[in-house]
Amino acid sequence: MPISPLDTLRKLEVATRKVDPETQSALATRWNSLPESARVPGQLIGQKSTGCEATHGVFPKCNFSCTPCYHSEDANKVRVDGPHTRSEVDKQFSFLREQRGFGNYAQLIGGEVSLLEPEDHAASIAIMRSHGRIPMSFTHGDFDYDYLRAVAVDPETDQPRFPHLSFAAHIDTTMAGRRNNKKPVREHELHEERARFCDLFHRLRREYGITSYLAHNMTVTPANIDQVADVIRSCHDQGWRMFSFQPAAYIGNEHRWRDGYRELTSTGVWSQVEAGAGTTLPYGAMQFGDTRCNRVTWGAFLDGAYTPLLDDTDPRDHAMVAAWMTAFPGNFILRSKALSAVRYVRSIASHPKVLTEMVGWGRRFVTRAGGPIKPWWRAKPVTFVMHQFIDAADTATAWGHIQAGTRATDPATLEAQERLEACAYTMGHPDDDGLVPACVQHGVLDPVENRELAKMLPLPTRRSRP
Ligand code: SF4
Repeated sequence: MPISPLDTLRKLEVATRKVDPETQSALATRWNSLPESARVPGQLIGQKSTGCEATHGVFPKCNFSCTPCYHSEDANKVRVDGPHTRSEVDKQFSFLREQRGFGNYAQLIGGEVSLLEPEDHAASIAIMRSHGRIPMSFTHGDFDYDYLRAVAVDPETDQPRFPHLSFAAHIDTTMAGRRNNKKPVREHELHEERARFCDLFHRLRREYGITSYLAHNMTVTPANIDQVADVIRSCHDQGWRMFSFQPAAYIGNEHRWRDGYRELTSTGVWSQVEAGAGTTLPYGAMQFGDTRCNRVTWGAFLDGAYTPLLDDTDPRDHAMVAAWMTAFPGNFILRSKALSAVRYVRSIASHPKVLTEMVGWGRRFVTRAGGPIKPWWRAKPVTFVMHQFIDAADTATAWGHIQAGTRATDPATLEAQERLEACAYTMGHPDDDGLVPACVQHGVLDPVENRELAKMLPLPTRRSRP
């Protein structure tokens, strides 16, 4: 049947609303499922996003060993298999698209992503994008330019497959196996490796125009907490857009656990991150899930000094965030520029106060960063994150309560339950119609899942000699 001009106008009207009905409904469902403790004005989950997502059981194997490692001990018995990865990625993200709407950040995570053949890696990224996801490939970073180019560029045409790539590289002394430094002892031994990784992407941009977003991940233990600040000071100029720190937790492979993880407090780790940034890092004006799981500060380095975008002690910044969330619910991820432009205009028209709030906030930010006469063209946006997993034992008990529909009464389990309910990092289980926090995946489900995968995708056996 031909499409009438009226139908086209109706579609256009829906596509340029402040928020489309599909996203609006997914956001409302997510907001309603948050615990009271997480329903705060600056909450991004349920207002701007339904949360980050990630793959599971797609390529659990890794060729490094980390202490700690959040994978179960059977992960390395599972063969890396391209067709399995592609089909699982497709299944998991069509389910997540159905449940969580269009337009989320999602992690292509195993295992080690560079163990995938470049074609399978590229296909997985393309599948995730086709489901309205911005994929981020999680890696130990120990690969060369040839591998990156083979993922990013079509070998037949020598043309970019993607305009932009996101990678997160885990590089720190808790890992063993890096080609250039098998068992580093101090973090500074890895600074060159950190720069080498960023340089691969600088070259990709020079040669093919492909831009990138690079996140640096570091597990924090009692052995390297004193080096967190130096990693930031020495490496913030290398090309990273995010520094993310994960205090070690008792989750994953028990054989890789060490004593002392509980001595690490969120405040202790965050104060080291602040020492590296050279300033306090406020995280209370805008939050992603529960601040006991995630602390996030957005900001920029200018002339070597870091300035956070928001000052959570200033009520005017809180008011700006509230106006921004009211004017622009949902997000603009992977939407057409033309439709987004109309949507911006309609959003502002519906809530014009946002303009004055944003101008005021912009002035305050510029003043805090040193004034308008600074070389602003050299400003480098950097986000600081701390993500604290929950210990597997607490996760299991709290997950039991969530499944039974009961409420924990002891403080530790209740905290875990609230954090799981506000989880910002979800995995999809299409076969069980389930959405699962990553803590539950790694702390409860991975051992069984990986045992099953090891049967389905066994490692190749060596032929015995005749
Ligand atoms: S994965 Fe765990 S630690 Fe991370 S946001 Fe979810 S509940 Fe919190």
